[in-house]
Amino acid sequence: MSLAISLAYLVAAVLFILGLRQLSSPRGARRGNQTAAVGMVIALGATIPLLHFTTAGLVIVLIGIAIGAPIGALTARRVHMTAMPQMVAIFNGVGGGAAALVAVTELLDQGMHPAFALAFPSVLSIVIGGVSFAGSVVAFSKLQGLLTGTPMTYPGQQVVNGLIALAIIALAVAVLTAGSVPAFFVALLILALVLGVAFVLPIGGADMPVVISLLNAFTGLAVAASGFVLNNFALIVAGTLVGASGTLLTKLMSDAMGRSLANVLFGAFGQVVAGPAGVAGAEGKSVRSGSPEDVGTMLAYARKVIIVPGYGLAVAQAQHAARELADELERRGVDVEYAIHPVAGRMPGHMNVLLAEANVPYEQLKEMDEINDEFKFTDVALVVGANDVVNPAARNTPGSPIYGMPILNADEAKNIVFMKRSMRPGFAGIDNELLYDPKTIMLFGDAKDSLTKLVAAVKAV
Ligand code: NDP
Repeated sequence: MSLAISLAYLVAAVLFILGLRQLSSPRGARRGNQTAAVGMVIALGATIPLLHFTTAGLVIVLIGIAIGAPIGALTARRVHMTAMPQMVAIFNGVGGGAAALVAVTELLDQGMHPAFALAFPSVLSIVIGGVSFAGSVVAFSKLQGLLTGTPMTYPGQQVVNGLIALAIIALAVAVLTAGSVPAFFVALLILALVLGVAFVLPIGGADMPVVISLLNAFTGLAVAASGFVLNNFALIVAGTLVGASGTLLTKLMSDAMGRSLANVLFGAFGQVVAGPAGVAGAEGKSVRSGSPEDVGTMLAYARKVIIVPGYGLAVAQAQHAARELADELERRGVDVEYAIHPVAGRMPGHMNVLLAEANVPYEQLKEMDEINDEFKFTDVALVVGANDVVNPAARNTPGSPIYGMPILNADEAKNIVFMKRSMRPGFAGIDNELLYDPKTIMLFGDAKDSLTKLVAAVKAV
């Protein structure tokens, strides 16, 4: 490799790391993406001279770029914020599948007895990339509603999955010791694909973001292994960064839900049938519902309001209406902040991204630990399309599926307003006792409609 190419790879690696650093705050996230993208363009540009193309090879690569680039750019531009997890799933799966295919072709090229230094990373790449590809396709299908979101389980499932994993290990050992028989590593790839499907099927649709993050880490590892196969420094660095950040993100998400990764992967969470629906709550408990005018008056005379956004805000695309309401309240001298739970919504950072899109000032976005002590000094906690992240069962009800999940202390506010369409539960499928609290007012309706009505109501006070 020439010095120029090595230097270009080094610059690309530095840009990847810098990009990741910038992604750690909402303020720098957009720039972080751009920085990493520039790094990727440099890495791609530096790789082309390494490919020793024939004309046919060059044409194939150009056709690949001409098909892939517009598909990637168009889907990324058009995707709805609520559909972002499935887009990440499918992009991630394609990366894992590509890494596995590269390893298969390299093994085919090397003949019967490839060097161990090449065979070992190839086998890793085939297995991890295959699992990641097939798992990501199932995750995508669940999130897109093509497959049911409820866990698909059967007795002895984990034993069967364990046996598939054992068969994969046996075949991997065979490839490494008996020589590179194409039938072995094609069988290895097929078994890895089967394991990917079998591993994700029993996981509930709502846990898919955690699974996608884990599969993302797998893809990173597969890509890094491909880097060893191809002796390519940029792939090793990029793959390792993806593997490490995906692993950390998976851990952070599991921690934020108060669940172990094992519980997410093997607990078949989401099999519990959803709780009661309808305005009369569980066991006939009653709730207090109000009109936009009632709530508007309460907000207009409040000193401090905390908005708690959740998944429903994303579904309703109510971020701009929330900002409008906050602006109107601030004009009246009300102190307004947003409380951001780390797993509010259906993907990490979901609320930050949505609210940033509506130009909500970053200073108003407060993380859970930062704001939790402020609820007791708050006149109104305005819960917009959120449910589980304020459910006190996480604190008070041992045995509840969300027991132990850190929550926002909305229940400590002087008044709580829930903006949702019905009494249906959130993702965890469990009743929320806070809905029946005497301090709580329900403002039923689509979050965007209700917020728009609230803006008018506040203006009219
Ligand atoms: P929840 O799923 O608990 O609640 C969302 C609420 O929004 C529902 O109760 C629903 O009630 C309401 N809603 C839906 N559409 C609308 C609409 N158009 N207008 C108004 N309300 C609407 O969401 P939270 O954000 O509180 O909690 C996130 C959950 O997702 C947690 O349980 C978390 O563990 C889980 N999760 C998060 C991940 C992440 O990375 N962020 C990953 C995996 C899981 P109704 O139908 O009555 O309107």
